[in-house]
Amino acid sequence: MSSADFDVAILGGGMGGYPAAIRASQLGLRVALVEADKLGGTCLHVGCIPTKALLESSELYHRVAVRGPEFGVNADQVTYDYPKIAARRDAVVSQLYKGVQFLMKKNKIEVVSGSGRLRDRNTVEVGAKQIKAKHLVIATGSTVKSLPGLEFDGEFIISSDNATLATKVPESICIIGAGAVGVEFATLYNELGVKVTVLEALDRMVPLEDEDISKEMANAFKKAGIDCRMGVRVKSAKKARDGVSVETDQGEFWARQLLVAVGRAPRSKDIGLDQVGVATHPNGFIKVDEWMRTSAESIHAIGDVVGGYLLAHAAAHEGMTAMEDIAGQRVAPMEQELVTRCTYSHPQIASVGLTEKQAREKGHEVKVGKFPFSALGRAIIHGETGGFAKLVADGKTGRLLGAHVVGPNATELIAEPALTQLFQGDAWELGRNIHPHPTLSEALMEAALAVDGKAIHI
Ligand code: NAD
Repeated sequence: MSSADFDVAILGGGMGGYPAAIRASQLGLRVALVEADKLGGTCLHVGCIPTKALLESSELYHRVAVRGPEFGVNADQVTYDYPKIAARRDAVVSQLYKGVQFLMKKNKIEVVSGSGRLRDRNTVEVGAKQIKAKHLVIATGSTVKSLPGLEFDGEFIISSDNATLATKVPESICIIGAGAVGVEFATLYNELGVKVTVLEALDRMVPLEDEDISKEMANAFKKAGIDCRMGVRVKSAKKARDGVSVETDQGEFWARQLLVAVGRAPRSKDIGLDQVGVATHPNGFIKVDEWMRTSAESIHAIGDVVGGYLLAHAAAHEGMTAMEDIAGQRVAPMEQELVTRCTYSHPQIASVGLTEKQAREKGHEVKVGKFPFSALGRAIIHGETGGFAKLVADGKTGRLLGAHVVGPNATELIAEPALTQLFQGDAWELGRNIHPHPTLSEALMEAALAVDGKAIHI
């Protein structure tokens, strides 16, 4: 191909790359999208989508089989069929995958299949092919990682990719890490009756969340019968007695399988970063500014490969930001504090902005409003009264600084306080919003009113 066939070439077609390609096309840019595997990336094929499809089945089973009688539903003969659960998971993925492929055609995006490498600041090499573009965007994502000495074998010591794509569940599982992956899989297996043990190195579950959320999660998991051990140092693990024996500073744990969920590694090696002068942090994540610009002129990077929150929606938003910068149509820079964080465990967790501790550390005089689901009509109807909504506001101005929800549909509820924060709104404004009744969303309204001691139902 000749010089600058495209305005922009994107390396990686996951939740960072493919929405960025669509936005580029909408902005009138000629765009090429290079993908080594399948469009949709981790999110669509081994992440958000398949795992949430699995959790939908496990929740339905658990609600009917275990909780049915509470709701007057006789559930003596309820069973699950994991291969069918897995088949539905695959059908969900396949439907969405077709949708992404259609969108590429609709937006006239040149999709190039193959593993790409940066050759210079305006060229991506895919096999013998050279794609020339005025701008390059790196969106290569991240991969599973393990602990030193613990190698994934896909059978006994498994990654989240293995667990997501499995067609059967073990009788027992040990999970290292109580982050997002750890607690979501703990929920899935527990709801399906698998014996679950969670080992976490730090002293609390979901350690990036507000401390009150961690406490609530610990209580909820204990109540659900999940054995959670905090402050545990894993020393080694080996195959033993048709399962895995995990050696820790608090003794040995044995289970049929061991899922290692201790974070992800950036896919930044072997893509030619050195050659083009793209700087990385010591842990391999690419350095970017708030417009997603790397240290190399004409090269942006977005998504998991730049670190921060490794979340699909953050990646997609970073893609929009980069494209608008490239097109000279800047709207707003990327703000990490506006990224919503969602964990689809039971109970669900969702948050945005600062935790109470972070707000205090930043020097804010803090006011907190908290409302428990146990006092909310819709939550009682739903049979899910654990958890709360907690809002963190600036004590002087009332400005909303952070929102933290643990409980039913938390992941749907978080969009409202996130919008309040995007609009630089105050807690009382969220409280003034007339919420429909009876809904779970009223928990946010009540928590907002509680910031000024004006909640109605507590
Ligand atoms: P994570 O960083 O969220 O959690 C890893 C956990 O493992 C941490 O709590 C950490 O303290 C613990 N840990 C690390 N080393 C340990 C050790 N030696 N022994 C015991 N515990 C140890 O990572 P994750 O849960 O693997 O998820 C990976 C990424 O994917 C995260 O960035 C996460 O946000 C993202 N993700 C998001 C969702 C979602 O939004 N629903 C779901 C899955 C994954």
